[in-house]
Amino acid sequence: MTILTWMYGVLGLVIGSFLNVCIDRIPLDQSISNPPSRCPHCEKRIASYDLIPVISYLVLGGRCRNCKEKIPFRVFFVELLTGLVFTLVWSRFGQSWQTLVVSIYCSLLIVIAFIDLEHRKVLNLLVFPAIWIALIMVPVLHFENFWSYLAAGVAGFAVLFLISVIRPGAMGMGDVKLIVFLGLITGFPDIILLLFLAFVLGGLIAGFLLLLKKINRKDSIAFGPFLALAGFIVLLYGDQILAWWTRMASG
Ligand SMILES: [Zn+2]
Repeated sequence: MTILTWMYGVLGLVIGSFLNVCIDRIPLDQSISNPPSRCPHCEKRIASYDLIPVISYLVLGGRCRNCKEKIPFRVFFVELLTGLVFTLVWSRFGQSWQTLVVSIYCSLLIVIAFIDLEHRKVLNLLVFPAIWIALIMVPVLHFENFWSYLAAGVAGFAVLFLISVIRPGAMGMGDVKLIVFLGLITGFPDIILLLFLAFVLGGLIAGFLLLLKKINRKDSIAFGPFLALAGFIVLLYGDQILAWWTRMASG
């Protein structure tokens, strides 16, 4: 790994810290810039030396310095995850426009996925702007394949919308909007791989949770995070996976 990859990873940790603020505040309709970070329990402003991503959480033992209330583990996890995602994005695309755009897409996916996990909703406030950004970026990044990306958005929408009609409750409208965004950023045939991965990952995790008796047969689990995870995998490694798949299929 080069020094630039490391630096971009560290930038990811800092961005992750900001994504936590978004995950905390956007669902509550609060401003993400004002007021500065406070402990949600004792409301004391958090000192700048306690806002160092990952390290502060470890130094404080996962508790507020003032009131000792637990800081959600998600705060630590999202910081670390974003750092890792940024490192992988740079390793994949290097110094390029693609790195910047994919990093923005991944940051949006992280915020959408964690809000879905905690509140069981894919927020319009996030997914609609995401679709607009993707619509603007498609002709910029993929001018010659413009229609293939547009068609992938429509196809993803059609598949999930159909499932939501055939099996009410299996799929939320939020997931249907999220797949439009994912189709627009991954294109054809990657969207097919994305849907396949999301269903396989979702099925495996649901089966695992059933086995551990964490959920029962009547429960449903949020599908948004699986779409987001599959989206990340396909954005970075879709081409390689599809090439490998074609090689296997042709023997
Ligand atoms: Zn506190």
